[in-house]
Amino acid sequence: MSPKRIPFIAGNWKMHLGLADAAKLAREIKDGVGAGDAEVALCVPYTALIVVAEILKGSPVRLGAQNLHWEPQGAFTGEIAAGQLADAGCRYVIVGHSERRRLFGETNAIVHKKLGAALGAGLSPILCVGETLEERESQKTWGVLAEQFRAAISGLPPVEAAKITAAYEPVWAIGTGKTASPGQAEEAHAFIRKLASQAHGDGFAAGLRILYGGSVKAENIDALMAQPDVDGALVGGESLKPISFLRIIHYTTPAAAARN
Ligand code: PEP
Repeated sequence: MSPKRIPFIAGNWKMHLGLADAAKLAREIKDGVGAGDAEVALCVPYTALIVVAEILKGSPVRLGAQNLHWEPQGAFTGEIAAGQLADAGCRYVIVGHSERRRLFGETNAIVHKKLGAALGAGLSPILCVGETLEERESQKTWGVLAEQFRAAISGLPPVEAAKITAAYEPVWAIGTGKTASPGQAEEAHAFIRKLASQAHGDGFAAGLRILYGGSVKAENIDALMAQPDVDGALVGGESLKPISFLRIIHYTTPAAAARN
């Protein structure tokens, strides 16, 4: 990856963990993180935000949420606004995760509104894009990625777009144990970087962090991070296992090994 981009490893705890277990895991990550190369964030359930924020205070590990509503306030029972997340101590918020798109009907238009709301509240969104297996097998991958990415960032001023992290998450690799090969990930990341360049120029594209997500684990992180356009990982299942997640955070690449 480019030396200009700080690597980024984010955990997505999804709908897991009660308060006691959330606090325990956050403490284990905070204590084990050390001074690695990568920025680290934990995207935790809403109920755990305050407790985990308190634990992470003073540590380099950032807090994130997994979703938000696009309106700043109002009669939206059960929803959470961007400002409320910022208030709770969040730096990051995941937007457009495939589970939200697939199970909760989030369209590209909704993802675009959520992205704007997150940025408006000073949050840094992690924008997920990715194709299903059927789309990949019918050669629609590039069209799907282009549509999702362009719709999400359309009309955003470059200075706001620069606060976004992208995540390439092939739907067929999420929670399935099937990981994209390092070559497949690199090909998709390079394509997303090209889309970024078309949208806002080469400077924006060169600075855009693009994470890979989809069954990342201790055994495959090093090969993924060795790819020039892979800037980090969005990790689901393995982020709930402290030893595995810490190994992912402490990935090694040939470049890192040469420095040590
Ligand atoms: C995710 O939730 O974004 C994800 C990639 O999950 P998993 O690592 O479990 O595939």
